[in-house]
Amino acid sequence: MRPLEIAIAGCGVAGLACAALLRARGARVVVYDKLEAPRPVGSGLILQPVGLHVLDALGAGAAIRALGAPIKRLYGKSGARVVLDVRYAARGKHAPCGLSVHRGALFQVLYDAALAAGAQIEAGREVIAAGDGRLRFANGAESPRFDLVIDALGARSPLSRQPHAPLPFGALWASLDWTGPFDPHALEQRYEAARKMVGVLPIGRLPGESKDRAAFFWSLQHSAYEAWRATPIEAWKGDVRALWPETAPLLDQISAHGDLVFASYAHRTLREPLSRECVHVGDSWHCTSPQLGQGANMALLDAFALAHALETQSNLDAALGEYARLRLWHIRLYQAASFLFTPAYQSESAAAAWLRDIIMAPLSRLPPAPALLAALVAGELGAPLGAMESRSLGV
Ligand SMILES: Cc1cc2nc3c(=O)[nH]c(=O)nc-3n(C[C@H](O)[C@H](O)[C@H](O)COP(=O)(O)OP(=O)(O)OC[C@H]3O[C@@H](n4cnc5c(N)ncnc54)[C@H](O)[C@@H]3O)c2cc1C
Repeated sequence: MRPLEIAIAGCGVAGLACAALLRARGARVVVYDKLEAPRPVGSGLILQPVGLHVLDALGAGAAIRALGAPIKRLYGKSGARVVLDVRYAARGKHAPCGLSVHRGALFQVLYDAALAAGAQIEAGREVIAAGDGRLRFANGAESPRFDLVIDALGARSPLSRQPHAPLPFGALWASLDWTGPFDPHALEQRYEAARKMVGVLPIGRLPGESKDRAAFFWSLQHSAYEAWRATPIEAWKGDVRALWPETAPLLDQISAHGDLVFASYAHRTLREPLSRECVHVGDSWHCTSPQLGQGANMALLDAFALAHALETQSNLDAALGEYARLRLWHIRLYQAASFLFTPAYQSESAAAAWLRDIIMAPLSRLPPAPALLAALVAGELGAPLGAMESRSLGV
């Protein structure tokens, strides 16, 4: 039988993981991205154990572990009160922890894996539509016809029919040199109610660099962004220091508004990942706020499930049905959890912050809550890997 011909729209986490995994099972793969030189956007993220499992399966686990920072704990305080304390080890002394990485490191490792597997990557191709096995580009050109079109265009995918709902809060992000009195194995946050949040995350280093980095973020409403830009940067730094004085050495590395990038968040879950034109993976199927730190992991799991389904089913229709079945419940569970948890950390709601501090935080310390929360954060609830083989696809 001739190999499947697959077009992948989008050269992000989901697209590159699909490219590497599907090439490994013999498909001919072309990845299209609008950027002239595909590159990651943003600062850092936490890869959970389930996401690391997929990177291991595509042969990139060792490379990403060499660059990232192991994360053992998520920790947050509101005033003197500890309101977030999730330890990966609550699932068991030897249970795997998370790995925090610079987005650039994850991108490079996946890009290398896709190229090494033999995927073809076409840059400078802005996708505007799909149909009849082809992609249509903004310059009026069309791709050749493929057996399958995969939509990995992210949260703002023009191929995703249901619009994403913008969330009121996003965040300012910066990648800074690692410094200060922070735990090198923890995501640390400080809150004022749910209105203000500042966070520091060790993210390891970029390929070819020796300096360790930190991701620094400050929660900000979309509607407050212009006012923030109009405020002198030193006044804003004063606000951050007032909430968490220990951030001073990180703030010293920020001298202008342009040193920070504003990331807006959105929430959307398509009822299913299949349409007549394409199959969706990653944020084009399900995007949300990063409070639970699952987006990149879910994108990796989607790619793994799609490759597994194409390998184990006898025809394309059966494989796409199997892909949807493998992922549906895990995605619904995590999208719902993200939707519920987000207002406790990013909202104007005093009630949500009160619930977090007075009800949720004490309850979270009572067994079996610590193990359950750790499993939630590790991406393991709903057994996302259960039905899939854990062997390497041998890229
Ligand atoms: C600030 C922030 C923090 C986050 N923190 C975490 C975390 O800690 N852990 C975690 O797991 N996840 C986190 N996430 C979520 C995670 O980044 C996303 O879920 C993940 O990147 C989704 O991957 P994707 O491949 O679906 O989309 P993307 O990574 O967004 O890739 C989409 C690709 O498509 C390309 N593209 C877009 N439109 C077009 C077009 N029209 N034509 C051609 N190409 C196009 C883009 O250039 C890009 O290369 C965070 C997200 C944000 C914004």
